[in-house]
Amino acid sequence: MLHLEAVFFKVLSEEMKKTLFDKVWDSHVVKHVEDGPDVLFIDRHLVHEVTSPVAFLGIKNRGISVLYPERTFATADHNTPTINQHLPVQDPLSANQLKALEENSKKYGISHWGLGHQKNGIVHVVGPEYGITQPGATIVCGDSHTSTHGAFGAIAFGIGTSEVEMVLASQCIMQPKPKKMRINVNGKLNFGVSPKDVALYIISRLTTSGATGYFVEYSGDVFRDMSMEGRMTVCNLSIEMGARGGMIAPDEKTFEYVKGREFTPKGAAWDKAMTYWKTLFTDKDAEFDKEIYFDASDIEPMITYGTNPGMGIGISKSIPKAEQVEGGVSTYKKSLGYMAFNEGEDMIGKPIDFVFIGSCTNGRIEDFRAFTSIIKGRKKAANVTAWLVPGSHQVEAAIKAEGLLDIIHEAGFELREPGCSACLAMNDDKVPAGKLAVSTSNRNFEGRQGPGSRTLLASPLVAAAAAVTGKVTDPRELMKEFA
Ligand code: SF4
Repeated sequence: MLHLEAVFFKVLSEEMKKTLFDKVWDSHVVKHVEDGPDVLFIDRHLVHEVTSPVAFLGIKNRGISVLYPERTFATADHNTPTINQHLPVQDPLSANQLKALEENSKKYGISHWGLGHQKNGIVHVVGPEYGITQPGATIVCGDSHTSTHGAFGAIAFGIGTSEVEMVLASQCIMQPKPKKMRINVNGKLNFGVSPKDVALYIISRLTTSGATGYFVEYSGDVFRDMSMEGRMTVCNLSIEMGARGGMIAPDEKTFEYVKGREFTPKGAAWDKAMTYWKTLFTDKDAEFDKEIYFDASDIEPMITYGTNPGMGIGISKSIPKAEQVEGGVSTYKKSLGYMAFNEGEDMIGKPIDFVFIGSCTNGRIEDFRAFTSIIKGRKKAANVTAWLVPGSHQVEAAIKAEGLLDIIHEAGFELREPGCSACLAMNDDKVPAGKLAVSTSNRNFEGRQGPGSRTLLASPLVAAAAAVTGKVTDPRELMKEFA
């Protein structure tokens, strides 16, 4: 909290019209390098087993230590199996990575939530769950989807291994200040449209490079009405349109979510923090480098058909012709060739092989509520292998407490143990070559879910509809209220 006090007084003393991003960024600048990057103080550093071993080796070789172990948190997620977590990890590389994280955390006095620990889970799920993620904070992690934490009004972004070492050693990072973009989505979302659809729609309109060089603030009715889980899903996917990160101004919903969690301030410290947090909004006349507007009523449940997250369409639409899309025709055709799809085909009705619900994009309790709302009273399709993977033990416990596990079992599904699972082919949950998976994760690159695997990104509702029908299905057809 020491740093937050300094931030508070600095913010109050500045009177220019500022964006939310400027307020948080400027209050964390330790040093400005003339014509160069800023040196930013980092409030929270999240580490996991994949990008940390070399960074820890780096500080060891330099004979230095972790400067602020109390601001550093380690959890195991990428390499963890999602069944039989009580048994030794079979894959030698994964076992070594997990062991290194445990040993380094112990050596440097860092909180370590390893495999089997009750607080274990995906780094971007457990951070908010335990109040490590707070409004107005700067947060980094050696994982691109660190942007998730922007949902709380934090500046959060992914960093590389050498930068992980830099933050371990100095609690600072050198960063050029990105440009600012505001994406406004106003109006009311249509029936069956979820936060994932909003994000996939924005990426499909902007393309995967549409926000390159920018830090995005999401604004408008749609984000204001969204739950914190939904906001996390949207901010998580910011990186998929090239943005350095995404953020949403904190409000009463944010403060309510954060209050009382293990690492959030208590008592007088809470009051002081709230005084600062309530200053975290974009001033009325503050300027953005780019401003974009969308209408909520234009969005329907989305699905991707190609090999990047920008290749998405409304589920009722057909795959665009090459001349309808921006970018090279040969690249487009190569992408469709990999997916074994053709221009002009409908997505609805395509037989699928796998369904994955989970990841830091859609592995939270709200996602499992959505999934089970569709599978309830139905049966898993015989041709589908389904991986239902909670983002953390806390999510797993909520699934059980809310009775969702019974629905899952009655419909013929199994719940696995927490981890990144099929988000990336770095553990045992790999989609085999040629197989088609409907996935609630964030990337559909060639081979992302396993060599030769084919991925359709979608919301938990779309994933559930596919899981019980065995094909791409408009979830609205299975929802009772469908008019
Ligand atoms: S679920 Fe996927 S994107 Fe999220 S932290 Fe794990 S590997 Fe990274």
